[in-house]
Amino acid sequence: MSSVGDLIDAYCLRCKLTLSHVVLFEVGGIIQKVKCRTCGAEHKYRGTKPEKQSGVTLLKRTRTRDRATPPSSSKPEKVKPVLMEWTQKIGDLKDEGEVRIYSLQDSYSRGDVIRHPSFGIGFVEKIISETRMDVLFKDALRRMAMSLKAP
Ligand SMILES: [Zn+2]
Repeated sequence: MSSVGDLIDAYCLRCKLTLSHVVLFEVGGIIQKVKCRTCGAEHKYRGTKPEKQSGVTLLKRTRTRDRATPPSSSKPEKVKPVLMEWTQKIGDLKDEGEVRIYSLQDSYSRGDVIRHPSFGIGFVEKIISETRMDVLFKDALRRMAMSLKAP
């Protein structure tokens, strides 16, 4: 077992190589800190290989950022103006028969009125693309999918 003062192969971040290091500090037989004999850098003992490939690290970072800032569609903030507009539109709605049950596979156009199982009545405000539209619900304007092919 290695102990303080012994030589050990460790990965040096500065040299970017696995090189001979001197053990500086260990706790309970686990090496904590080493010193590179090539460049003299003292650092945490990481074993003989770099911890992670850069691609993996990048993916993890992206996922963390997504969690920190959820898409605006799932977290409605400016409720008041939306509610006012929505209430006005509901008032203008003449016939419940105009309301279509929302389905991912259906196509909609601007001015259509839909009913969503969770969000309730929504007014199609804008067609973004062949499969995306902005729908005004009681609590928020949401980007919704449409015209998706059946699985
Ligand atoms: Zn080094």
